[in-house]
Amino acid sequence: MPEQETIFHKIASGDAQADIVYQDDLVIAFNDANPQAPTHILLIPRNDELESLNDASKSDEGILGHLLFAAAKVANQVGIAEDGYRIVINTGAAAGQSVAYLHVHLLGGRDMTWPAG
Ligand code: 5GP
Repeated sequence: MPEQETIFHKIASGDAQADIVYQDDLVIAFNDANPQAPTHILLIPRNDELESLNDASKSDEGILGHLLFAAAKVANQVGIAEDGYRIVINTGAAAGQSVAYLHVHLLGGRDMTWPAG
């Protein structure tokens, strides 16, 4: 059992519903419930062991790479790749991470500002 079961644990196990746009053996991608851009998709590993990037070790290089590879694939699939998109991984409280389950934000469909807030 994870230390703290989050909504993403439930989505990964199929116990909670999500608007899934892509999935494979390793990751699930679904629309964010509170989108911050016209396209706002979250990608999570099926394996629920990582609460954040801070927990990642050498053995997680594969899934971390696959999350980014899948994000680029989804960006293509939903038609934001050509214009451009932003990938965000909020890590820890100061970065605004609110769900203790490693996830990648894929944002697009509008111009982004920099630096990020
Ligand atoms: P964080 O702030 O941890 O980086 O991102 C968590 C994200 O999860 C937020 O963008 C929030 O809108 C999204 N979120 C929280 N609960 C749910 C949910 O039940 N379903 C979906 N699809 N997204 C959620």
